Amino acid sequence: MPEPALPGAAHAGDDTVSRSAGHLPQVGEVLVVCAHPDDESFGLGAVLGALSDQGTTARVLCFTHGEASTLGETGRSLGEVRADELAGAAAVLGVEEVTLLGYADGHLDEVPLDELAQKVEEASGSAEILLVFDEGGITGHPDHCAATAAALLAARRRRLPVLAWAVPEQVASTLNAEHGTSFLGRRDDEVDLVVAADRHRQRQAITCHASQSVDNPVLWRRLELSGATESLRWLLPPPGVEETTAHTADSPGFDGRA
Ligand SMILES: [Zn+2]
Repeated sequence: MPEPALPGAAHAGDDTVSRSAGHLPQVGEVLVVCAHPDDESFGLGAVLGALSDQGTTARVLCFTHGEASTLGETGRSLGEVRADELAGAAAVLGVEEVTLLGYADGHLDEVPLDELAQKVEEASGSAEILLVFDEGGITGHPDHCAATAAALLAARRRRLPVLAWAVPEQVASTLNAEHGTSFLGRRDDEVDLVVAADRHRQRQAITCHASQSVDNPVLWRRLELSGATESLRWLLPPPGVEETTAHTADSPGFDGRA
């Protein structure tokens, strides 16, 4: 198994050059663990596109069909619509395989964590890293928190590193002020890696999730504010990489949408 490349850690005090010089881990295979169809695109799409570009194989484990969304209701079952949307987005992002489970959307935190972690272990295959949403679920969404917690438990058992996508503090505070959302932002010293984002591929993938993206001004504003980079944190670092200083398991308890 190739050793994950050491990231160019971006902590407070680093200059702009080193912050922009972060590189994604050079690994053969990544497993994304997420709660809803669209998390892989709305949240992780820019990172997944960049991983695909560097030749890393990505697979996605998604726990729910996202049927509880208040967006995109049509005559057809929303769970079916969103399963199809996920398949389309995964193809755009170069994802090799999607495992879509049937847990109830909005109730993932009621499932025993051990059971969810078991699903992650079963799906992990030859993945060298798990890629997840930040602790705190980005928006405090309990499903997001449960998915990340399950990935962490499975990763501890399998001795796998866990890399999390995070929202910079400035982006979060602007969104929260403008839209009344509850994004949990991260300070520079809580971020390990700032990497180039493949927004073009991400936007194409988002388009596949038409039921969730057409009437979603917060999403488009977040992408605009995030610019050309994404921020990542090691929740479980690979050997030789220090953990970030501040890991909070706090959950604001807001049932918002990322
Ligand atoms: Zn979600």
